[in-house]
Amino acid sequence: MSTSGTVGGGKYDVVVIGGGPAGYVGAIRAAQNGLRAACIDAWENRDGQPAFGGTCLNAGCIPSKALLESSELFHRAGSEFALHGIRVNPPELDLSAMQARKARIVSQFSSGIQELFKANGVTGLVGRGHLLPGNKVRYTPRGGKPELLEAEHVVLATGSTPIELPFARFDGEAIVDSWGGLDLAAVPGRLGVIGGGVIGLELGSIWSRLGSQVTVLEAMDRFLFMVDGQIAKDAQRQLKKQGLDIRLGAKVTSAERGPNGVALTYEDQRGRHSVEVDRLIVAVGRRPNTEGLLDPLAGVKLSDRGLIEVDAECRASAPNVWAVGDVVRGPMLAHKGSEEGVMVADLIAGRYGHVNYAVIPSVIYTTPEIAWVGQTEEQLKEARIDYKVGTFNFAASGRARAMEQAAGLVKVLASTADDRILGVHIVGPMAGELIGEAVVAMEFQATAEDLQRTIHAHPSLTEALHEAALSVDRRSLHAINR
Ligand code: FAD
Repeated sequence: MSTSGTVGGGKYDVVVIGGGPAGYVGAIRAAQNGLRAACIDAWENRDGQPAFGGTCLNAGCIPSKALLESSELFHRAGSEFALHGIRVNPPELDLSAMQARKARIVSQFSSGIQELFKANGVTGLVGRGHLLPGNKVRYTPRGGKPELLEAEHVVLATGSTPIELPFARFDGEAIVDSWGGLDLAAVPGRLGVIGGGVIGLELGSIWSRLGSQVTVLEAMDRFLFMVDGQIAKDAQRQLKKQGLDIRLGAKVTSAERGPNGVALTYEDQRGRHSVEVDRLIVAVGRRPNTEGLLDPLAGVKLSDRGLIEVDAECRASAPNVWAVGDVVRGPMLAHKGSEEGVMVADLIAGRYGHVNYAVIPSVIYTTPEIAWVGQTEEQLKEARIDYKVGTFNFAASGRARAMEQAAGLVKVLASTADDRILGVHIVGPMAGELIGEAVVAMEFQATAEDLQRTIHAHPSLTEALHEAALSVDRRSLHAINR
């Protein structure tokens, strides 16, 4: 089944397997470069309908952000509106309307991809792709017979799937993966989340704001180990204050389904513990999706962790075969995959292509949001790089106070040697938006002084970044320099 009017013979310049943010973006750029491009995607939603957009659009970034926004509004209506002088009866939750809104957003974006395919001349193919030797692709349309496609170049963009724990198998009811965790039809009284990473915290936050008592069990001793220590500590304190029960160093050893939900057993330094929950979300990471993708003779090598091995420009080990997104090394982030897709499509077209892996922003959309780019203080110490630190608390930001969101801080790390910005770390309101300025600054190799001399609108949250940059040289104007 083709979703564009442009399907012709089975010969393409580029066949992309996988229609998530890495694959569909790569296919669009390939077509923009004048290449004949097709994108095969096998995603099926819970209603059995196919949909482009992969995990990100259907079961990840977009539905989670829709629910994070709705649940945050619900929470603020109940806890904060009175402070603004707005009296509301305790707000009432209509979860099915909330879920329906989420589903509408997802479906609008998915049809948007098909429109983009049509506008750019990409052939969207619904079904499975399988790489054969010699850059041939066996395409099995949904409900149809396999066809052979020939391609000058093949881009593998098959993404990732949730890791299942052997003692906590997904049953779609009591024990669910992150997708199931976004689709709950009722607010669980007690919700357990195994995994205190980005996805676990976002899902835990959603249901906590809607009324669940949430327990997050995280095996690592350090909260958000990949985040700058000072920022992680602040975030942990704020999330705890909201009622998220985050237990660190907690290794879950069993999950028994029973009449009262799921009985979990975990071990930490103090011994063995048990906790009972009504529903359990397992968010312990994702594994690359290569099942049924590769003919053994296609010559594509996998790493020990099952990732497709690629070089810095995403070339796989077989000639003219490329791989991008979650299925290759690097952070599992939609924008990282999309940029790889663009790079590969440009390189195939003989143009310049590049991904700056040192400057990839990360965002956790909890409240407060946590966002960062570049190196953490711990990484700089380990690498023995001399650095200067500047911080600014949102408590001194007029805009943050007006928003009633004055907790958190911005931290700027700059090189002692040449003042170049090495990392920016934020916990606070709209951190995911604020980090954009830091990304641009680092992409252009800005110094702390460049940010200091850049005019920031008043009153805006961006002033906090400005002040943190000033603080690098002890020149803060709205905080006491120490
Ligand atoms: P995917 O999006 O997984 O897409 C791969 C596609 O390939 C799928 O449609 C799959 O069905 C298809 N496919 C697989 N095998 C075949 C085959 N043989 N033939 C045809 N098609 C095939 N990232 C962010 O950057 N920001 C966020 O806020 C964010 N939030 C997230 C929240 C959750 C709950 C989850 C689970 C993830 C989140 N992510 C987020 C991660 C993000 O979703 C992934 O990094 C991103 O989707 C990876 O893109 P991809 O194109 O590599 O793979």
